[in-house]
Amino acid sequence: MSINNLLHFEAIITQNILSPWLLDSQSRLSLLRLDLLHPIISGNKWFKLQFHLAHAVQNNAKIIATFGGAYSNHIVAAAFACQQSGLPCVGFIRGEQSQELSHTLRDAMSYGMQLRFVSRTLYREKENIMQQYPHYYWIPEGGYGITGAKGAATILSHVPNLDSYTHIVAATGTGTMLAGLIKGANSKQQVIGISVMKGNTALEQSVHQLLDGNETASFHIEHDYHFGGYAKHPPQLIEYINQCWKQFHLPLDIVYTGKAFYATEQMIRQHTIPAGSNVLFIHSGGLQGNLSLPVGTFPFS
Ligand SMILES: *Cc1c(COP(=O)(O)O)cnc(C)c1O
Repeated sequence: MSINNLLHFEAIITQNILSPWLLDSQSRLSLLRLDLLHPIISGNKWFKLQFHLAHAVQNNAKIIATFGGAYSNHIVAAAFACQQSGLPCVGFIRGEQSQELSHTLRDAMSYGMQLRFVSRTLYREKENIMQQYPHYYWIPEGGYGITGAKGAATILSHVPNLDSYTHIVAATGTGTMLAGLIKGANSKQQVIGISVMKGNTALEQSVHQLLDGNETASFHIEHDYHFGGYAKHPPQLIEYINQCWKQFHLPLDIVYTGKAFYATEQMIRQHTIPAGSNVLFIHSGGLQGNLSLPVGTFPFS
């Protein structure tokens, strides 16, 4: 498909982090920079969309439809990817239309996505909405599902010396990317998901539902690094992200990667990830989400 030619797979190759806490634990930490894949469809969202778009084209789908909130990385990625694939698309957006559209929604519209605003009550009943438009090709909210996980499983095929890593860490929302990473990892590797939601006790089950039993890697989910809940960003997190930019020239976002990178540092410091490990952190993108912050909050983005 033509989009693949737009993507900078050569740019995402790992960055090594140097820091006293890594020296102390005699561990190594590399980052897979999916944020550098493309300025618009950055991060994991393209991987989760790729097989949906391929199916839609194969099945002659006329219109793609999906769900998301006003700051959704998935909405922007879907809008752009559909435009590039020549597929019209509709985004069902949670909540009433506000006076001023978010940058996310403005961008999505500029890539040709048609927006339909749905009250929060109706949004909860997604099945009803889908039934009203049976001829659409539906992509679940956030790209959750087996098709998305299959796409996410291809992420690790871009990692040189993949087998040398002992741990693979990534931010987790719906669990789709995590399921893909578990599929792509080997039996000696530990996959660790950092849940960005507060008390999302259904997450383990959601991940298991996307696995088929042939996976050999072990995995677990950390639930204590949500910083107050989904998209919550207390000053401590803002400060941490600024510090990572200064120290490592690493841009992080407030919803996903900032929390996951913080968790990775803590796990290495506290030896939850044992000394002598070789850790791969997946930078899953999402930097557009920082545009919801006041200008100047971070020197990047
Ligand atoms: C969507 C997203 C995630 C979470 O992916 P899931 O497959 O929903 O778990 C992680 N990081 C970023 C930057 C994202 O946009």
